[in-house]
Amino acid sequence: MTAHPSPAAAPSDGPRPARTASRVLVLNSGSSSLKYQLLDMADGGGRLAAGLVERIGERTSRLKHTCLATGETRRHDGPVADHDTALKAVAGELSRDGMGLDSPELAAIGHRVVHGGMFFTEPTVIDDGVVTEIERLVPLAPLHNPANLTGIRTARSLRPDLPQVAVFDTAFHTTMPEYAARYAIDTRLADRYRVRRYGFHGTSHAYVSRATARLLGKAPEEVNVIVLHLGNGASASAVRGGRCVDTSMGLTPLEGLVMGTRSGDLDPAVIFHLRRVGGMSMDEIDTLLNKRSGLFGLCGDNDMREIQRRIDEGDAGARLAFDIYVHRLRKYLGAYYAVLGTVDAVAFTAGVGENAAPVRAAAVEGLAGLGLAVDPESNAAPGDGARLISPAGARVAVAVVPTDEEWEIAAQTYAVVRKGD
Ligand code: ADP
Repeated sequence: MTAHPSPAAAPSDGPRPARTASRVLVLNSGSSSLKYQLLDMADGGGRLAAGLVERIGERTSRLKHTCLATGETRRHDGPVADHDTALKAVAGELSRDGMGLDSPELAAIGHRVVHGGMFFTEPTVIDDGVVTEIERLVPLAPLHNPANLTGIRTARSLRPDLPQVAVFDTAFHTTMPEYAARYAIDTRLADRYRVRRYGFHGTSHAYVSRATARLLGKAPEEVNVIVLHLGNGASASAVRGGRCVDTSMGLTPLEGLVMGTRSGDLDPAVIFHLRRVGGMSMDEIDTLLNKRSGLFGLCGDNDMREIQRRIDEGDAGARLAFDIYVHRLRKYLGAYYAVLGTVDAVAFTAGVGENAAPVRAAAVEGLAGLGLAVDPESNAAPGDGARLISPAGARVAVAVVPTDEEWEIAAQTYAVVRKGD
């Protein structure tokens, strides 16, 4: 089993599980999907079950459930009307494996919640007041928070007596200093409309920065790490002594790096220009920048594997998309190096970061003056655990550190519910 770093200590109040209970069900509820994992925290977070309900609300919904103890996978196709029905179906699958929601071993349910604003700085036991606060944040995350709330409401109705904990994507970034979190716009307007840089992927940045410290044989407080979370969505963070001091996503996940389908940074005047000169509506521009930009907008593909294949065949469009992607990444790497002053490690994570050796090599190429380099053999070697890819004796460690957001949510949830025992 993968060795995991310890989660940050978390506070607690609210209902408590039975002393022997050590399992945590992690729910990640999206607008039309419900992903889940059941982990046993007494066993270091070993996975007992995992699954996904897709296309909720459509006629072609699909449930895929795997019991990791037996290795059995079950699939069900057919309409799943809503999240309530989806979670009941998941509960049914878990019951079939003897791990239902009524099991005394279930300690808590941990919910991924995308936006916690400035209000939620830590994992939080959910009560009616917390639900109301998450609702108040819907204007900041109109797609995500309502979906997360649906999962919370359904789970609370099924197990009202069980502690349920919200783990926020934004929480890890609430330690950013004001000068990193504020945009240079009118302060009163910014405050009135809660316009500031919140950052996302926080659960991953928290997990990976701690796992990187562990890889170096140090405590998180002893190291400065730049985390590059490169998935379909992508973000960078500068983590000083275990605390985030800057991150590339902002008010929404649109800011920062070039992503699969999101533009990342651009001059805000591009929006005025497309509105005034291009005659596009705000909704059209929103869709353009979030869903039809980034790698996809540049070359028609958002999957780095496909882009690499096309580059190998000499495709100039794919090459340019790759170069733009890497150029932005290098700019953030340099910026966060300057923000931190001294850097102990750069950690690559998520789908691209963990798998695309050419991206990692290009990101640090020519940066030996900053102590940054990759060893070509280690970089190219396949592997599935946290590993160093920098040459022996390098001033700055460069590492591949697989992220595990579900484990982190489970660990934070468990820490909250055990704290008061
Ligand atoms: P999400 O943000 O959806 O959680 P992931 O972290 O799973 O995304 O990353 C998905 C992306 O990772 C894919 O779109 C693809 O670009 C990239 N990816 C996955 N596997 C590989 C691979 N073997 N080589 C290069 N890129 C990969």
